[in-house]
Amino acid sequence: MTHPNLPQFPNAPKTTLGMVGGGQLGRMFVHEAQALGFKVAVLEPEAGSPAAQAADLHIQAAYDDTQGLLQLAQHCNTFTTEFENVPAASLAKLAETGFVAPSAACVSIAQDRIEEKAFFTRCAPQTGILPAPHAILRTAADLENVSADLFPGILKTARMGYDGKGQVRVKSLDELRTAFANLKGVVCVLEKMLPLAYEISVLVARGADGQAVVYPIAENVHRDGILFTTTVPSPHVSAEAALKTQNAALKLIADINYVGVLCIEFFVLQDGSVVVNEMAPRPHNSGHYTIDACVTSQFAQQVRAMARLPLGDVRQHSPCVMLNILGDVWFDGETNIERQPEWHKVLALPSAHLHLYGKAEARRARKMGHITFIAPTLEQAQDEMQQACAILGIAL
Ligand code: ATP
Ligand code: MG
Repeated sequence: MTHPNLPQFPNAPKTTLGMVGGGQLGRMFVHEAQALGFKVAVLEPEAGSPAAQAADLHIQAAYDDTQGLLQLAQHCNTFTTEFENVPAASLAKLAETGFVAPSAACVSIAQDRIEEKAFFTRCAPQTGILPAPHAILRTAADLENVSADLFPGILKTARMGYDGKGQVRVKSLDELRTAFANLKGVVCVLEKMLPLAYEISVLVARGADGQAVVYPIAENVHRDGILFTTTVPSPHVSAEAALKTQNAALKLIADINYVGVLCIEFFVLQDGSVVVNEMAPRPHNSGHYTIDACVTSQFAQQVRAMARLPLGDVRQHSPCVMLNILGDVWFDGETNIERQPEWHKVLALPSAHLHLYGKAEARRARKMGHITFIAPTLEQAQDEMQQACAILGIAL
């Protein structure tokens, strides 16, 4: 059955949208898809995952399981993903029977830091923004040709990294040799460690008709390689850097004919120059603020783009701070003693919007939820974020 409320056009999306992946991004996508009158079928191997809890249908199978993919294609003709390490081959398979946004080709660029950096470098004449100086390390022999200028550096696995996983900081060639050997032959990138002033991300969305929209600049603070807070409007970004990165994001998304939501991370260095770090081919943690602070959330935007509906207004109506909630707050200090976070106190703060992802087990460093603080002024949002940290025992 096709969606009853949508204008009919060839290959109009069926009522049920297909989602590969079952994490929190999938869950928030499901909520927005349902609000727009769709159902969602989720392909996810794990039982009781955040997205599967909310979905209308859960197909419990691996992301590359032929039967699972077939079953998904029986219910849907429009597909997306919420997890960039989904095999691009699975998305290519789904594209044989329907519309996949973003495409397997776009997702595969973001899955590989080498391809991603090559893409950013190729587009640099138009964007004016390069990635960090880096070297590609495929074999031990490549290490010997590494320029001394790349030290101190960060060794990153080319594939499968997220939340700072698979990254080692190295000060010298000797440390690089040890770190590379420990990764046992995995292809890596060595990046020069840059003097960051602050980090920003640009969320951009593009429809199948080529129309694109760009959200306000989000300023991100990371802790131990994991996003800690996102503040919008960015307290530090200059009008010039904002315009430059937003234009770059629009150029990059158009260059690869991308359909859907894309998030691009940039570093702003101490001398004011801008470097492009990486991109996520999906809604992103730094865009969660859009649920509460913008006319159209990044998840609603993803639904609109894949269903070939008009994109929504990206206007931000309130200043906000987003605070990630990790599993650590379910433990007493550094101990293993479990406790319940005092949500009733957090929710007494007038600006606090709590989002929990329904994960059964709290583990340290695991993303369990987030709180968006929406206030008439950024100062109030920041102040209440700090009060929430005090309540939850999060050090500032
Ligand atoms: P995620 O997927 O969660 O964004 P990731 O594991 O893909 O993270 P990166 O974004 O590459 O990793 O790096 C994580 C953080 O480490 C960055 O946000 C930044 O704070 C720091 N970092 C990474 N590369 C550099 C660099 N070249 N110079 C200085 N700091 C860096
Ligand atoms: Mg990152």
